[in-house]
Amino acid sequence: MDSLKFVLGIGLAIVLVFAASSVYSHFVKAAPAPADRETFYQVSTIDALMQGVFDGVQPVGELKKHGDFGIGTFDALDGEMIVLDGVVYQAKADGHVYPAADNETTPFATVTYFDDDLSSLTTGQPMNLSVFTSTMEKQLPTGNMIYAVRMHGTFPTMKVRAIPAQQKPYPTLSNASLQQSVYRYSDTTGTVIGFYTPVFFRGLNVAGYHLHYLSDDHTTGGHILDFTVPANMTVEYDITPGFTMALPTNGTFTGVDLSQDLSGALAKVEK
Ligand SMILES: [Zn+2]
Repeated sequence: MDSLKFVLGIGLAIVLVFAASSVYSHFVKAAPAPADRETFYQVSTIDALMQGVFDGVQPVGELKKHGDFGIGTFDALDGEMIVLDGVVYQAKADGHVYPAADNETTPFATVTYFDDDLSSLTTGQPMNLSVFTSTMEKQLPTGNMIYAVRMHGTFPTMKVRAIPAQQKPYPTLSNASLQQSVYRYSDTTGTVIGFYTPVFFRGLNVAGYHLHYLSDDHTTGGHILDFTVPANMTVEYDITPGFTMALPTNGTFTGVDLSQDLSGALAKVEK
């Protein structure tokens, strides 16, 4: 992929995903951050969530030790998680956003420490989510890397969803999403928070862009189903070559069948 429009048009040096800290190298703006800041930390897998593994297995207080920026969900699939500047927010299906207590738990979340490594400008035309993801993906220095993605500004339209807490026995994520609440906002100012993960993350995470939203006043947010990105908006990327995955040792995770390819169903749920 070309690196057109990146502020730093520096060729990709050797960066190994899953590698130790010593190989982190030199195409970022600043000196390499400490290794623990360059790690994508994930609780469970997206396919487990797809199969209804909604039991919270990690407290928010523990998750916060692994990053100050990220997304996820909560025990019983109770709303959408947004982590921004070290604060964990819960966007619930009632349309409100609440600060999450440290003793709340998550069945699936991803966090990192956000460092602005690369900035990219969007095009001179407003874009919806599908145009944004296809256009901006082509501008990444490589698709074979994990990026934290942050974008702040005023969005002419923002369409988000949140799923209400589910009852046991838990349904699949696809069936739970039939109950989702969808909210539409106009000219809302806030932060888009999320990740780009490579195609080879299929089964582990939502390959490609997965974005959540939080308004500046912390009153509205959720999982982004669509939005309008205005022309010439700055997208910040944190290149994150490290990867740590915390698999649940309790709950239903160990008994669930994770051998299937669920990418088709996942695409429907997340869009
Ligand atoms: Zn989401």
